[in-house]
Amino acid sequence: MNYSDKDKFREVLSNEEYSVTQNKGTEPPFSGKYLNNKKSGVYSCICCNTALFSSEHKYESHSGWPSFFDIIDSENLKLIEDKSHGMSRIEVTCNKCGAHLGHVFDDGPKPTNKRYCINSVSLRFNNEE
Ligand code: FE
Repeated sequence: MNYSDKDKFREVLSNEEYSVTQNKGTEPPFSGKYLNNKKSGVYSCICCNTALFSSEHKYESHSGWPSFFDIIDSENLKLIEDKSHGMSRIEVTCNKCGAHLGHVFDDGPKPTNKRYCINSVSLRFNNEE
């Protein structure tokens, strides 16, 4: 990402959106605006609007963050090994703009057994109802 992109995001994103997507922050658990959103629609990247997750794959994980058991298109996400904070995790980022979104774990429901644990502030919900 070049300087002008960072500069643009500094202007258009809220402080929390910037902290999470550009500096790999985490919103406080049970605080996100999409945690209990049960409407039909698509969740896109707050930074570049790439479609990332569908309400069809959203489920209640009781983790405190919006959780999805599948993704719309693997081309739109980039998974990165993350050894920070003394843990070994898989970071989930937007493949188009590099925004940090959250992490993916292997304790999700069938059929994928995946739990994409995603910060609300990294997403924009597009209501299809
Ligand atoms: Fe993006």
